[in-house]
Amino acid sequence: MTVNKYLVFILVFIFIPSTKSLGELESFCDNLPRPAYSQFKKHEASNDWFEVYQFEHNVWAIYEPFQWQEVISYLIIGNSSALLVDSGNGIGDIKAVVDRLTDKPVRIINTHSHFDHIGGNYQFETILSPSTEFSISNSKGNNSQTIKTEVSTEALCKSLPKGVTQKSHAIKPYSITAKVKDGDMIDLGGRKIEILYIPGHTDDSIALFEAESGYLWTGDSFYEGPIWLWFPETDVHAYQQSISRLAALTPQLKALFPAHNIPYSNPSLLAETDEAFQLVLAGKAKSRPYATFEGTVIYDFDRFGFLMLKENKQ
Ligand SMILES: [Zn+2]
Repeated sequence: MTVNKYLVFILVFIFIPSTKSLGELESFCDNLPRPAYSQFKKHEASNDWFEVYQFEHNVWAIYEPFQWQEVISYLIIGNSSALLVDSGNGIGDIKAVVDRLTDKPVRIINTHSHFDHIGGNYQFETILSPSTEFSISNSKGNNSQTIKTEVSTEALCKSLPKGVTQKSHAIKPYSITAKVKDGDMIDLGGRKIEILYIPGHTDDSIALFEAESGYLWTGDSFYEGPIWLWFPETDVHAYQQSISRLAALTPQLKALFPAHNIPYSNPSLLAETDEAFQLVLAGKAKSRPYATFEGTVIYDFDRFGFLMLKENKQ
């Protein structure tokens, strides 16, 4: 999950008197399309819900711009099989998009099991994931009010795909069919993707690294925007070690593929994130209270930020 969307939700449902219309609030829709997208060409596999962008080495970004998470899933296609890195919100039919892009067998791997990354898992047979209590619990599905809010008017910039309603929308259960761990290699035929276990944002967070292309899929451990590190399932000290580990890879990297907002980032941002987070944990960075969530503070940096519990502040 990312911050600006949740902010709008809280403002709408908690702080804004019911007499105030939604139009009076700044909408995340007003900031779309993000300027970075002008450098990418939208592929014809795009539809009313997903925008599809192709990158070198048969990598595809499958972006959900009209829902406030602005989540991005990726398809990596090898000679013999393909890997879907996350499956989005489960609002649109991501399998139909994937089927347009490849006829090879597709496995899913989740960068972590927050609901906006696992929503389409149920459409696929093979799901690779770390197997912590958190991931197992999330694999059982979610039909809570939080999930309903993800398809509320405030969460959307356009109407829902046909057949999807607030009542019907839920994260459907799925089975983790293979457990992965740090150092595992996924062979797609002619290309190999390495699993890096990077706990912190959650205890089941991973990154994917392809040495040959220099590509790194970072999940929610890095994206351009405020990085959420205040969940009960977040461990900021583990995150610091994980982001340092990713930053150390920078000389081998050509591009980052994060899970929200913008699908292609400069690897130099990892070292900046690492440095910034060390300052945060050392009590040397400036924070501001974040009134939206009681007990949280936000640290703003140029292209990213950290939303954290006040108690993590030194
Ligand atoms: Zn997340």
